[in-house]
Amino acid sequence: MSTNGLHPNFQQHFDDMVAINPGETEFHQAVYEVMQSLAPIAGRVPEYAQWSILKRVCEPERQIIFRVPWVTDDGDVQIQRGFRVEFNSALGPYKGGLRFHPSVNLSIIKFLGFEQIFKNSLTGMPIGGGKGGSDFDPKGKSDTEIMRFCQSFMTELYRHIGEYTDVPAGDIGVGGRELGYLFGQYKRITNRYESGVLTGKGLSWGGSQVRTEATGYGTVYFAQEMLKERGESLEGRRVVVSGSGNVAIYAVEKVHQLGGTVVAISDSGGHVVDEKGIDLELLREVKEVRRGRLTDYVEARSSASHVSEGSIWQVPCDVALPCATQNELSAEDAHTLIRNGVKLVAEGANMPCEPGAIEAFKDAGVLYAPGKASNAGGVATSALEMQQNASRDSWGFEETEAALEEIMRDIHRNCVDTAAEYDCEGDYMAGANLAGYIKVADAMVAQGVI
Ligand code: GLU
Repeated sequence: MSTNGLHPNFQQHFDDMVAINPGETEFHQAVYEVMQSLAPIAGRVPEYAQWSILKRVCEPERQIIFRVPWVTDDGDVQIQRGFRVEFNSALGPYKGGLRFHPSVNLSIIKFLGFEQIFKNSLTGMPIGGGKGGSDFDPKGKSDTEIMRFCQSFMTELYRHIGEYTDVPAGDIGVGGRELGYLFGQYKRITNRYESGVLTGKGLSWGGSQVRTEATGYGTVYFAQEMLKERGESLEGRRVVVSGSGNVAIYAVEKVHQLGGTVVAISDSGGHVVDEKGIDLELLREVKEVRRGRLTDYVEARSSASHVSEGSIWQVPCDVALPCATQNELSAEDAHTLIRNGVKLVAEGANMPCEPGAIEAFKDAGVLYAPGKASNAGGVATSALEMQQNASRDSWGFEETEAALEEIMRDIHRNCVDTAAEYDCEGDYMAGANLAGYIKVADAMVAQGVI
């Protein structure tokens, strides 16, 4: 946890929140970060105190935990735990992804759902915040096992979701294949072709162009805006992208389109350094088609080497884009990056930088963007998908990408202007948290104590 401390008005709220949510360390971390940024408005808006906005925003509106039984190809019965946390509906139906990963527990889903409230607020779209998932591990499972698991998961989830209620999408371990099985089962149980109930769908059955690329592209657009603000660009920059999933792959693509070079990527087995620049086609073939490991990438590419020990953040770069998972970049990693001359860090993943790392970047004057601003392009494009579904329309790639780029520019501007308004110039974390929070808090005041 950060050593900066909280404004005295918030310390008691934070302690109470920790006391009623024991052991949920990731959730505590996410709440602490937001509370830290709210110091400039502490005591300044009487309605927020009068209506207990801060206390209410930390308590999910609804938390659903359910059993997910499924049968392996060998006939063994497995039991997983399923979650959906419907956190806040002040701005619209609950909206947020589903994560399938063995590390998933209530703390992780709550931290993600909490972040999602403010991220979704920043997009400017009418969407509330939620998140769900399961401790199911898709790694090494057959297609039929994935399908049976998704069908069982949806057999409980369907009763809680809907176009006007709660709209799940993908996250780690949940991509096009899983969303297909989930949508199929929802349709079968409800006998409704309700396209707007899920986003991230395939293009032929209600999906949106650019949704697959949106989180990675959006993160790079955001980084580009940060550089532009200082009269700089991505042209000629050395970039390190952690991860090799959906977010990382499309971040690599956009960096290359904008003239930078990605020299390293990673997966859970280590990282790959490729001084010639990551070969996107090969990466996509290994990861998306073969669902393989980065060691397969190295075997097919002579300029690349695989490093199984040590951290990807030891690779010197101008721009670092953590696109893997929460708390993947420690304070020590941050100091290494700073020593090696990093100029900018923009989060593609949710909460990838530990609090000590964020402090180190700020102290060193490194530009730092929190995920709830820089990775909001994914959910923003989900909201564009909802718009298309509602009007039974589908837009072209270019117009959708232009809409995404404009949304990322607007989020960037909002962060910069809000930080300046509250005397924290250049602090993207404060700008994002303040702007995201104020919009939600004002809606909660207007809607009364519910
Ligand atoms: N899981 C993504 C996120 O972290 C996207 C959620 C969505 O599209 O609803 O924002």
